[in-house]
Amino acid sequence: MAVSIHSSVPLQCAVEVYDEADIVVVGGGPAGTAAAISGARCGKKVVLLEHSGQLGGMGTLGNVSVFMGVGNVTGIYREMVSEVLPDHLPQSHEGSIWPQYSPFELRHYLNTKLEREAIKVYYHTSFVAAAMEGDTVTGVIANTRQGLKAFLGRTVLDCTGDARVAQDAGVPIRTGRSEDGLTQPMTLMFMMQNTGKPVKPYLPDDCYYYETVDELPQGRNLYWERNDNGTLLVNMTRVKGNGAMIEDINFAEKESLRQVFSVANYLQRNGFETYVLSHVPGQVGVRETNQIEGLYTLTENDVTGGRRFEDVVAQTNYEIDIHSPDGRKGTDERHVSGYDIPYRCMIPISVKGLLVAGRSISATHVAMSSMRIQATCYALGQAAGIAAACAIDDGVDLAQVPISRLHERMQEQGVKFLK
Ligand SMILES: Cc1cc2nc3c(=O)[nH]c(=O)nc-3n(C[C@H](O)[C@H](O)[C@H](O)COP(=O)(O)OP(=O)(O)OC[C@H]3O[C@@H](n4cnc5c(N)ncnc54)[C@H](O)[C@@H]3O)c2cc1C
Repeated sequence: MAVSIHSSVPLQCAVEVYDEADIVVVGGGPAGTAAAISGARCGKKVVLLEHSGQLGGMGTLGNVSVFMGVGNVTGIYREMVSEVLPDHLPQSHEGSIWPQYSPFELRHYLNTKLEREAIKVYYHTSFVAAAMEGDTVTGVIANTRQGLKAFLGRTVLDCTGDARVAQDAGVPIRTGRSEDGLTQPMTLMFMMQNTGKPVKPYLPDDCYYYETVDELPQGRNLYWERNDNGTLLVNMTRVKGNGAMIEDINFAEKESLRQVFSVANYLQRNGFETYVLSHVPGQVGVRETNQIEGLYTLTENDVTGGRRFEDVVAQTNYEIDIHSPDGRKGTDERHVSGYDIPYRCMIPISVKGLLVAGRSISATHVAMSSMRIQATCYALGQAAGIAAACAIDDGVDLAQVPISRLHERMQEQGVKFLK
């Protein structure tokens, strides 16, 4: 029977409760992994549900492979750098680092790290719907390898990057630029490997033959060379669209791969004559989709004005970095000297029992372009896990967590705020 896309199908069924925890984290990217670790370190039972087969989010799944600098290397992010990239660890928190890393090693490291913290990670488990009691989120229903299962929690942390849980729970969502809703484009990042001898450039029939830099999808070369192992990390594809929309992501997966072969072919003819395509991740990288409406919305003025907040939970000086959302080639890059992100950006209006950490916090399109990078998402996740534990311990709503208590416990976990 053909089903029109405008019709609807009722779904009503009882779903088995598979697990219960103090904190249910949905999404295992930078925000989700840090939230799980920090919650567990506060003595809470934590489960993490991850849609894919790996942790690390865009940092591994999307092959991002570089930690951009934030000017405050602190908390769990600092600990990770000290364990995975000790040569890059700055002596003081204030140092800025931009290390390249192996996404394969980070993936393995995160598996082991969460195992050591006794966090139960459910891989291949995708959020489907929020379980609600009135205006309070009490758990989630997820699609697992054994069908739909429920995971109940005293607090749920939405770290999906797309605010999927918040959206389903009825939190108002904003998307992209205020004038037209367009989001930053998607990019399939790939790797090439130096073979040490000339290779024959490869180009499938339906790909593009780029002659000049101007013709490239971003109109520029953007790659990182590693002299120690001969890999080249390439960030040069670009597909317009919103990665949280079915038709946009369908198009982007095919178009971005076409661009991968085309850019690799261009590089093989322009300076990288001895390199072969060596790694293409399983999914396109998504920079921007949904932002929740939270108790506070971070703005461009906060970012450019270096605003400080009493309820600071993360600090960054990463630039405003907007890959053109409208199909043009440019990137709007503007220096930022450093600002705070307040706790209230993670607290959704209108719903209790839920925090949103990572790139989909309450922020405008421009502010989000600066706060979206990995170190900041790890910092926000760490704060969310601790805030969840504080709320449980004190028997208060997430919005009522005393900031002094939150800061005290963040400090106990190695977080330092710079003046
Ligand atoms: C092309 C590109 C280049 C970038 N370059 C850099 C860079 O050089 N340096 C840098 O620091 N940052 C960079 N970033 C930004 C950074 O990688 C992301 O903004 C950051 O990873 C966001 O972290 P997050 O935890 O909020 O979300 P994500 O990393 O998106 O992780 C979300 C996780 O949730 C899971 N998930 C999603 N939906 C569901 C669901 N329904 N159920 C269960 N799980 C779900 C996903 O599988 C994923 O694991 C780049 C991003 C892109 C796309």
